Amino acid sequence: MKLGKYRAKRHFQKTPEPRGIERKIRGNSFVIQKHRASHLHYDFRLEVDGVLKSWAIPKGPSLDPSEKRLAIQVEDHPVEYKDFEGVIPPGEYGAGVVMIWDFGVYEAGEVESLREALTKGELKFQLHGKKLQGGFVLIQTKYKDSRKNWLLIKEKDEYARKGSNITEEESTSAYSGKTLDEIERLTS
Ligand code: MN
Repeated sequence: MKLGKYRAKRHFQKTPEPRGIERKIRGNSFVIQKHRASHLHYDFRLEVDGVLKSWAIPKGPSLDPSEKRLAIQVEDHPVEYKDFEGVIPPGEYGAGVVMIWDFGVYEAGEVESLREALTKGELKFQLHGKKLQGGFVLIQTKYKDSRKNWLLIKEKDEYARKGSNITEEESTSAYSGKTLDEIERLTS
């Protein structure tokens, strides 16, 4: 079961996060959630085969192709998670505030080649989000033999911006317009 790990980490009587279902319908959504937990990070999720493939990016995405952002693969999340913005209560897994920082759809060609790219560790895609646009690549590194470590890199195209700091420039929710503090105040 693809969502086994996700569910095992959470108590759904205590957290407002969705339990979710494994879907048969294929979609091509993506979401980036800004997550203020023990450390602030960004969770990048791509819908593949009925779940959200997920990576935690400590520094968040960049539009500068010379910036390689570490992206640590984490457990698959349910597709419903892309709509989650709120507060995970103290004591629960990932306790803290979650913001929908960006969302939209992505393109990466045929699903067979997408699966193959994930297995091979080099995935190219185009994002069509509220904040992020254009080509990106996720490349698996062989660092310390961990298969969890990837790098997220902006491709050189018309949306690339040298020296940009998109996470500073665009700090509020793409879904509600709220800041992390407002989400915390209004939903906890
Ligand atoms: Mn997270």
